[in-house]
Amino acid sequence: MANLFRHLPSVDAALAALLEDRELMALPRPLLKDLVNGYFEALREDIRDERIADPAGLKLDVLLPGLRAAVRSGARPHFRRVLNATGVVIHTNLGRSVLAPQAMDAVRDACAHYSNLEFSLESGERGSRYSHVEPLLCRLTGAEAALVVNNNAAAVMLVLDTMAKGREVIVSRGQLVEIGGSFRIPEVMEKSGAVLREVGATNRTHLRDYEDAITGDTGALMKVHCSNFRIIGFTKEVSASELAALGQKHGLPVIEDLGSGSLVDFGGGALDEPTVQQVVAAGLDVVSFSGDKVLGGPQAGIIVGKKLWIDKIRKNPMNRALRIDKMTLAALEATLRLYLDPLTASRTVPTLKMITATPDELKVRARRLRNRLGKDLGAAAELALLPGSSRVGGGSFPERDLPTTLVALTPSGGMTADELKARLLNLALPLVGRIEDDRFCLDPRTLDDKEFPLVSAALLQALNAE
Ligand SMILES: *Cc1c(COP(=O)(O)O)cnc(C)c1O
Repeated sequence: MANLFRHLPSVDAALAALLEDRELMALPRPLLKDLVNGYFEALREDIRDERIADPAGLKLDVLLPGLRAAVRSGARPHFRRVLNATGVVIHTNLGRSVLAPQAMDAVRDACAHYSNLEFSLESGERGSRYSHVEPLLCRLTGAEAALVVNNNAAAVMLVLDTMAKGREVIVSRGQLVEIGGSFRIPEVMEKSGAVLREVGATNRTHLRDYEDAITGDTGALMKVHCSNFRIIGFTKEVSASELAALGQKHGLPVIEDLGSGSLVDFGGGALDEPTVQQVVAAGLDVVSFSGDKVLGGPQAGIIVGKKLWIDKIRKNPMNRALRIDKMTLAALEATLRLYLDPLTASRTVPTLKMITATPDELKVRARRLRNRLGKDLGAAAELALLPGSSRVGGGSFPERDLPTTLVALTPSGGMTADELKARLLNLALPLVGRIEDDRFCLDPRTLDDKEFPLVSAALLQALNAE
C-alpha cells in the first residue's frame, strides 16, 4: 500500500496538465486547487481502503480524464438550468413558472440600470414601489385595490395578521390544507396570531355552520382553496358569494386564499376553476394568490380586494419584511401587461401555453422529438410514442389529467431506465423525465421546441457515458 502512494502523481503536475485546458484555466485558481486536492484526497482514501491495487491506474494520463470530469462537475454553479420533460407544468421542485420573454427583458432592464422603483416621475419626489402594478391588478381583477408581497404564503400571513390578530377566523374543516413545505393553514393561523375556528365536516360544510360559529370574538370568515387535493362524492362547499353575503350581514370581512388564482377562463372541462375576477365579483373583501403558479409570472403573493382593507394591510409593519424586490416587480408588471389581451397572454405566457396545448399539437411535437432522437441516437435506444397524461402541478387542478403523447425510450445494451435517469441528472445541463413501464419517458408539453436538440445531446451523452 505504501508503495502505491509513491505512484501517485504530484498535485503540481496534475494542476499543470489541467491548465492546458482553456475552460479549466478560466476557473478561479483557489477553487481549481481545492478541487484537485479533493480529488487526490479521495484517491488516497481509495488506496487506504484497498479499492485501488494496480499502480498502472495511478499514472497521470490515466487519471486525467476522470480528474478533468471531477473538476468540471465540481466547478459548475450549484443552482442551474434543467430540461423539464416531466410534463408537470408548474413543477414546484423545478422552479414553477418559466417567464415570458417580455418579463425577462423587464428584469434585465430593472437590474442593469437605475429605475423609478420608489421615485415619482410626476413629482420628482419619493414614490411607492406598490404604485407600479396596482392599477394593472385592479383593471385585470376588478378589485378596488391591490398589494404585492414576496409570495402567497406571506400574503396569507400578512392578511390574517392585519385583519384577525387575536380574533377567531372561521374556516371549513374541508379546507384546512397543507400545501407542502411547512405551510399548513392551522399553523399559519397560529403564527399570525389569529385563532382558528373550524366548522363543518371534512366533506360537507353548510352556510349555517359558519353562521352558528359567529360570536363577538369572530374576526373574519375565510375560504381556502383545496389546492393539492380533491374531496369527491357526497360533498358540500359554501360558495364565495354566499359567504360574502353572510359576512356582510354580520359586518365581518370575508377572505379567500385562492392558491393559484387564474386570470383566464380555461373554458370548463378539466380546468373549471373560477377566475380571480369571478371571486372578486362575488364580493369577497380580500383575495390572495401566487404570482408563479397558473399566472405564469415571478414568485409573488398578490393581494386584491376592498381599498379599506388593502390600505390597512399595506400599513402593517410586517409588510416591510415581506416586500417584493425590483426584479420581481419588473417581471410581474411585464407579465400582467400581457394579460391585458387574454389572447396575447395565452400565446406568450409559457405556463398558459403549456397548460392549453392541445392533444393534437402535442402529438405532432412528440413525433418531431421522436424523429430528432431517432436520427441522433441511432441504435443507442429504441423509441416509441405512447399516449400519456401531463399535470398542471403547483397544487393547481389536482387529479386532473391533461392528455399528451410521450416519447418512450428504452436504452439498448442493457442499461436500465433508472440508470439512464440517474445519468441524465449528472449532466452539466440535467434532463428530468419520468419512468413508466420501465421506459424513460419524455413529455413534450414542458419542453420548448428549441430545447429538442439539447434533449437529444443530453441523451446521447448519458447513453454513451462510461
Ligand atoms: C401554493 C399555495 C400557497 C402558497 O403560495 P406560495 O406562493 O407558494 O407562497 C398558499 N395557499 C394555497 C391554497 C396554495 O395553493
